[in-house]
Amino acid sequence: AVQISRMNKWYGAFHVLRDIDMTVYRGERIVICGPSGSGKSTLIRCINALEEHQAGQIIVDGTELNEDLKNVDKVRSEVGMVFQHFNLFPHLTILENCTLAPIWVRRTPRREAEEIAMHFLEKVKIPEQANKYPGQLSGGQQQRVAIARSLCMRPRIMLFDEPTSALDPEMIKEVLDTMISLAEDGMTMLVVTHEMGFARQVANRVIFMDQGQIVEQNEPEEFFLHPRSDRTKLFLSQIL
Ligand code: ATP
Ligand code: MG
Repeated sequence: AVQISRMNKWYGAFHVLRDIDMTVYRGERIVICGPSGSGKSTLIRCINALEEHQAGQIIVDGTELNEDLKNVDKVRSEVGMVFQHFNLFPHLTILENCTLAPIWVRRTPRREAEEIAMHFLEKVKIPEQANKYPGQLSGGQQQRVAIARSLCMRPRIMLFDEPTSALDPEMIKEVLDTMISLAEDGMTMLVVTHEMGFARQVANRVIFMDQGQIVEQNEPEEFFLHPRSDRTKLFLSQIL
């Protein structure tokens, strides 16, 4: 579903991503971890062209991200993204947050967009909040709305950037449970997270990044039990 080869990115003179090679197959669930500043957010932001890369290739579902804005639009329409801070529109209700893009970007009729939105709000288990405003919901509920809102655009791939790290501990589980159920539906997922329990349970593969490079990747069992590089060992010893 995603093919990245020899991809490099700079912020000005700062070489933030170095020779990234990575393939994500349809239905795979990849967890990306690594120290702060290692380039995890930048990498997943490149995959839906929120950031540009300067060298190498990113191909998403057969479409290469390049100067062609049609390609960028196509990829964005297929890739959903959930951030650490939920980025809901505070002045719109939960339902309106979920129908905005389908109505204005996809030209879905309002009635139909609302049905789809309710379907996904049920999936994330908060249909009863549909007519409230984001400020009236807990952080965990807001994050589940953000996930539902993304799903309303029918993405083929979902990117998550530390979706639980702004949440109180008791709300982390409800968001992780939502993500687990998405995984069980077969969604292709790339998740930046330090929730290693989630990685163990859900990931096909864990990728460890440091200083803009992929240092190692492996299936979770091997990754946690037998990390190969010293940098990975050090990182794991700090977070586990
Ligand atoms: P964290 O775990 O703290 O979220 P991260 O692995 O997601 O870190 P990135 O946010 O991708 O790291 O940042 C990688 C590096 O790029 C950091 O050194 C950061 O300071 C730098 N950086 C990020 N965004 C920009 C920007 N817009 N301009 C310049 N430098 C940036
Ligand atoms: Mg980050």
